[in-house]
Amino acid sequence: MATDTPPDVDTRADVSTSGLDFIRQIVVEERRAGKHDGRVHTRFPPEPNGYLHIGHAKSICLNFGLADEHDGLCNLRMDDTNPTTENVEYVKAIEDDVRWLGFDWDDRFFYASDYFEQLHGFAVQLIKTGKAYVCDLQGKEVSEYRGLWNEPGRNSPYRDRSVDENLDLFTKMRAGEFADGSKTLRAKIDMASPNMNMRDPTIYRIRRVPHYRSGDAWCIYPMYDFTHPLSDALEGITHSLCTLEFEDHRPLYDWFLENCDVPCQPRQIEFARLNLSYTVLSKRKLLELVEQRHVTGWDDPRMPTIVGLRRRGHTAKAIRDFCERIGIAKANSIVSVAQLEDAVRQDLNKRALRVMGVLRPVKVVIENYPEGQVEQVEAINNPEDETMGSREVPFSRELYVERSDFREDPPKKYFRLAPGREVRLRYAYFITCRDVVKDPESGEVVELRCTYDPETRGGYAPDGRKVRGTIHWVSAAHAVEAEVRLYDHLFTKINPEDVGEGGEYTDALNPASLDTLSGCRVEPSLAGAPAGSRYQFERQGYFCVDADSAEGRLVVNRTVTLRDTWAKIEKAQARS
Ligand code: ATP
Ligand code: MG
Repeated sequence: MATDTPPDVDTRADVSTSGLDFIRQIVVEERRAGKHDGRVHTRFPPEPNGYLHIGHAKSICLNFGLADEHDGLCNLRMDDTNPTTENVEYVKAIEDDVRWLGFDWDDRFFYASDYFEQLHGFAVQLIKTGKAYVCDLQGKEVSEYRGLWNEPGRNSPYRDRSVDENLDLFTKMRAGEFADGSKTLRAKIDMASPNMNMRDPTIYRIRRVPHYRSGDAWCIYPMYDFTHPLSDALEGITHSLCTLEFEDHRPLYDWFLENCDVPCQPRQIEFARLNLSYTVLSKRKLLELVEQRHVTGWDDPRMPTIVGLRRRGHTAKAIRDFCERIGIAKANSIVSVAQLEDAVRQDLNKRALRVMGVLRPVKVVIENYPEGQVEQVEAINNPEDETMGSREVPFSRELYVERSDFREDPPKKYFRLAPGREVRLRYAYFITCRDVVKDPESGEVVELRCTYDPETRGGYAPDGRKVRGTIHWVSAAHAVEAEVRLYDHLFTKINPEDVGEGGEYTDALNPASLDTLSGCRVEPSLAGAPAGSRYQFERQGYFCVDADSAEGRLVVNRTVTLRDTWAKIEKAQARS
C-alpha cells in the first residue's frame, strides 16, 4: 500500500529544522538523508472501543498535519484486534469526528482486522524460523515465569518444542481444538531481558468471542504489540507516532519488523500524550461516566470527547489551533483547559454573531413609550468583521433586562441601573429608573418602571451627556424563550486521576457542573436557529444552539464565558 511514486527527496541544505518540534525535526532530517525515498506516510490508529477525545485530536493533528506538510499521506486505521470491546457505532463516530476536525484519508481507510490472515502468516513464519512457540503455561504461571523488573524470568518448559510440533499446535489452536486461555503463541526472545516486554511476549491468544467484523472466523486473536508494527509495515508507514507509554515497547516493535519478512521498516517515535486539567482522557473512564450516568452520553457538552466539544459549541478550527499551540513534547504534563477555552474564544470572537440574550430576566416598563408601538433598532452583527453586517432588533415599551443589571442599593463603581440612575440600552436609548415594583410577599423585584429619552436613539445624547453603563435587553413581546445550560468543569480537581488511597476519580466529580436556566429570553433573530448555530451573547459569553431544541423549544449551551476566569483560579490552586 506504499505509494508508487515517492515525492522528490528534499535535499535542500537550507531546510531549517529550528522552530520545529522534535518529531518534525526527525522527519526533515530523514527526508534529507533520503530515508524511505523521502516518503512521509503516517497513520492514526484508534481502537474502536469508544468515542474520540481531545487527546486523540492532538494525535490526529500531528499525524495528518505532518503528512500534509511533506506532501505525504496519512491513513485512518481501526486498530480492532480485541473482539470484546469494539463495535461499528464507534467506527462510524471515529470517521465522523476525524472528518469534522478537517482531515481526509481519501481511500486509505483500513482495519487491522483485515490483516488477520496476513498476521497469521507472519506468526507461522516466526514459528518456522524458530522464533515463536506454543506455550501451555496458564495466566498465573506466565507471570511467575516472567520474573520481576529487577529479577530475570525463567524459560517456559514449552520453549524448546520443535518447529513441527509448534506448527501442528498452532494449526490446532486456529482450528479451535483447545479451550480459551489454555495455550498461547509466544515470541522466543529473551526471558532475562531487562525490558519485560521482551520476555517472550504473547503473540496470539485463544478467545471464542465473535469479532464485530470477522464474526466467528477466528478463535485466536493477535496481540496489539504484534499487530501494530506489522500493520504499519503492510501499509508502508514510515513514521509510527504514538504516546510515551509505548516507549518500552519499541524494542519489541522493532523485533517483529526485523524478524518478519515485511515490505517496509517504519520507525516508532513516542510523544507526550495530552492531559487536560479538570478532565479525564481515558476511554475506559469516559465510558464509565456514560454507563454510570454521570453524564447524558458521549456527546454530553461536559465531556472532552470531540462530539461533546462540538455539541458544546467548540469549532474544529479552535481545536486544531489549540493542538498547534500546545505543540509536541517528550515529557508529560497537564495542559490547562483554559488554553482550550481560549482558543475557542479567539475563533468565535471572529465568527460568531453577536446577539442579546437575557439569562435571568426582570421586566422593564418604559412609562413614556407609547403602548403598542414597536420600532427596529440597528445592531451590529460582529464588530470584528464588517462583512457580517447588521440586523434589526425590535424595541418596545416592555423589555427584559438582566436581573443583575439592577441594584436597589448600588455599591461604588456600579454603573448599571438603580433608582434614579440613567443607563444606555445597547443600540437603543437612554433610560432612567423611576420606580421599583416588588412582590409584596417575597420582596423580590418584579418590575422596573423607567422612562426613556426619545432624543437618545442609537444610544447617544445630542446634548453630549454621558452615561457610565450600557446594558443588554430584549423586547418582552418579541423575545424568544430559551433554556440555557451553563457548564462548569466536570471535575473539581486539576488532575482527577490523582486519587488518594482507596479513592476513585469519580470522587472528584463536580456536582455543580451543569446549571440549567429556564425562562431566559433571547432576541427574536434566534427563533428557529438550527442546532449548532453559534452566538456571542453580548456581555455573557459564547453560546451554541443545542440538539435538544425543537419546534417551539430553544435550548442553548454556553460554550465559554467571555473572559477566562479560570486561569487565575488554577494558578491559585496550583500554588496552594
Ligand atoms: P485511552 O487511553 O483513552 O483508551 P488509547 O491510547 O487506548 O486511549 P487509542 O484508540 O488506541 O486509544 O488511540 C489512538 C491513538 O491516539 C493512539 O496513537 C494514541 O497514542 C493516541 N492518543 C490517545 N490518547 C491520547 C492523548 N491523550 N494524547 C495524545 N494522543 C493520544
Ligand atoms: Mg490504544
